Amino acid sequence: MSSGPGRLGAGPAATRRPPSYGEGAAAVALVATTAEVLAHPELDEDLLAPWERQRLAGIRVPARRDDVVAARLLLRLCASRVTGLPPRGVAPAQRCPGCGRDGHGRPYLPDHPGLGVSYSHADGLAAAVVGPGPVGIDVEPLTRRPGPVSVLRRLLPHDEVDAARAGPDPGPALLRLWVRREALFKAGTDGVRLTEWTDRGRAAVVALAGADGARRALSPAPAPSPAPTPPSGR
Ligand SMILES: [Zn+2]
Repeated sequence: MSSGPGRLGAGPAATRRPPSYGEGAAAVALVATTAEVLAHPELDEDLLAPWERQRLAGIRVPARRDDVVAARLLLRLCASRVTGLPPRGVAPAQRCPGCGRDGHGRPYLPDHPGLGVSYSHADGLAAAVVGPGPVGIDVEPLTRRPGPVSVLRRLLPHDEVDAARAGPDPGPALLRLWVRREALFKAGTDGVRLTEWTDRGRAAVVALAGADGARRALSPAPAPSPAPTPPSGR
């Protein structure tokens, strides 16, 4: 990445937070390329817990492994920004709502029960959010086209799928519908504000559930980046 490391959330607003938070505390959401995260000076793979590294060992595709590492590190950076602790001082855990076991399923911060956390990764992209109350985030490459429609109609509200398909640009519309649903699903509730945007510099579509106002903490996009060329370009 030609923008260099250190630009993630490097605004004056993203420095120290008081150690207490409650209603109205600031949330932090960050979107970055996997390469940006892995080059970030505050982050290193050795921040990951032994149980996380154990899970990584099962991922055979190096690029996918990098995406997972990046998302987990970005989550620590968000938690660090919100709590004022160093990234090494926050220890995310996961618990599965299905089987009740630790180590997979919904992420949370055992030492900060008032904060919601969520992360997402896709091809070369990572996103994470930490903030008061339920939060969810999803990132997908701008060029991704979810489908087939039969699957979408099973997972998403029929009327919304049909409306997206009937519009002038069904592919991107279905993608936005998809990331919004994913973010709400991760938040565990539909009763939160949903924001969705396109990060053109990173060729990413992002949806954020909850964490009102967190979008302003996003880092600026890297200036010169590979142009998002559609696969069927002229
Ligand atoms: Zn489970």
